[in-house]
Amino acid sequence: MTRYIFITGGVVSSLGKGIASAAMGALLQARGYKVRLRKLDPYLNVDPGTMSPRQHGEVYVTDDGAETDLDLGHYERFTGVSARQSDNITTGRIYQSIIEKERRGDFLGATIQVIPHVTDAIKDFVLSDPGENVDFVLCEIGGTVGDIEGLPFFEAIRQLGQELGPERACFIHLTLLPYIPAAGEMKTKPTQHSVKELRSIGIQPQILLCRCDRPIPETEKGKIASFCNVRPSSVIEARDVGHIYDVPAAYHAEGLDTEVLWHFRIDDAPLPDLTRWNEIADTIHNPDGEVCIGLVGKYTDVPDAYKSVSEALVHGGLANKVRVKVRMIDSEQFDDEHHPLDILDGVHGVLLPGGFGERGAHGKMRVARFARERALPCFGICYGMQLSVVEAARTLAGFKAASTTEFGPTDEPVVGLIEEWTKGNERITRDENTDKGGTMRLGAYPAILEEGSKVAEIYGTTEISERHRHRYEVNSGYIEEMEAAGVSFAGMSPDGLLPEIIELKDHPWFIGVQFHPELKSRPFEPHPLFASFIKAAKVQSRLV
Ligand code: GLN
Repeated sequence: MTRYIFITGGVVSSLGKGIASAAMGALLQARGYKVRLRKLDPYLNVDPGTMSPRQHGEVYVTDDGAETDLDLGHYERFTGVSARQSDNITTGRIYQSIIEKERRGDFLGATIQVIPHVTDAIKDFVLSDPGENVDFVLCEIGGTVGDIEGLPFFEAIRQLGQELGPERACFIHLTLLPYIPAAGEMKTKPTQHSVKELRSIGIQPQILLCRCDRPIPETEKGKIASFCNVRPSSVIEARDVGHIYDVPAAYHAEGLDTEVLWHFRIDDAPLPDLTRWNEIADTIHNPDGEVCIGLVGKYTDVPDAYKSVSEALVHGGLANKVRVKVRMIDSEQFDDEHHPLDILDGVHGVLLPGGFGERGAHGKMRVARFARERALPCFGICYGMQLSVVEAARTLAGFKAASTTEFGPTDEPVVGLIEEWTKGNERITRDENTDKGGTMRLGAYPAILEEGSKVAEIYGTTEISERHRHRYEVNSGYIEEMEAAGVSFAGMSPDGLLPEIIELKDHPWFIGVQFHPELKSRPFEPHPLFASFIKAAKVQSRLV
């Protein structure tokens, strides 16, 4: 029997609902249950693919090629369960499918309304195939209770609560208990109001997860329980912790999973095995040293824009028992070629992340060159790889005009859309009609690694599958000259046409990948490339 847990948020946004949901999934998993996590986003975009990272943080890509909310990244990192297209829905997507049906005449002349048509579509999504033998589906509702755009979602989960009954549905509300220094008190009123708001739309939460920065006095817990109509033991303290990977163990200590199981009347659940979380916490809090990585990108003031990359760096640190300090460096400042690069002093490696557009790109190329010439470990991801190749084509292979067509037309399209890959009079095209210009290559694709290459050694295999999100490709028409100049094309698409990985021959660690390895890294299974990159940074820092 699949049970459903609905997680809503109140009082303010940014309380960490995504991490709370992910940690809850991890706890149930640690008790031996099979979980799936889903996110319902009330905004009107069909998916977050077109949103600026400034608005909504990074776009997380699934194996099956969906551009989704970054919370799905938390879910994957905490549970190891690969998310799918069908795990994230937005208001935009729901309306799009309803309007398509209406235009086809599928509603046979009926008036289409929010209730029941939109709410039914939301319910169908929540209940849609969770996968085999899944015990718990955790559904996080984006936004905060009281938002106008969230109402159809709250109505849909209210109905589901009725239809499934308490033995199959549980409502958890995440709220904030602010501490007011002048009064010397923790305030419960915002929580009371938030629950009142939920109850006014017919939802009685069973568990309150209360974010706070200090212990909640028992008297306050009692007050919350009585005003909000929950058991005192269901008022769970969710106090700030040192690191996000401390959250599962902290929630367990406060009894969250016990309360969830009590609600469902499950009394034969095994105790959670938190060994892996304890080991991770131990390494995070007692590292053998620290390395500093320069993350050179355009959105350095928006930490969520590089969420998966930053997390994968932490995982690489876990694999090497070091703390990874990330120095966010704005690539745009280096677009001015006279701007000094001394901010890179003291970094033990640079990471050039994915990106779009010309702004900041020349700066990234300068950093790639700096790292190449100084033998500094350098990891280029997607755009980072493409720009490293352009830089090497210009300075090593002698193609002065080398560029990416992302900047505009060029005589040397070392990076471009496949239909732009011309070299001399020869035009390189793919036989199958799978590539459409202007369309992103999204989701998991296989790559074949060259025997004996550094990356084959790092992966321990020559066949890999990684997630992609890009339009442009490195032009394989330049491989010969680039190889001669010291750039090795160590990974290619199975048909041999698309470069997937480059590595520099005479460099301790300079690897560029066309895909996004960060999306598949987990704290308990660090991605091999990140583990190896941090190892190289450790050597650079003379820790080994
Ligand atoms: N802008 C590049 C492209 O579209 C790289 C994209 C990325 O880094 N995700 O190919």
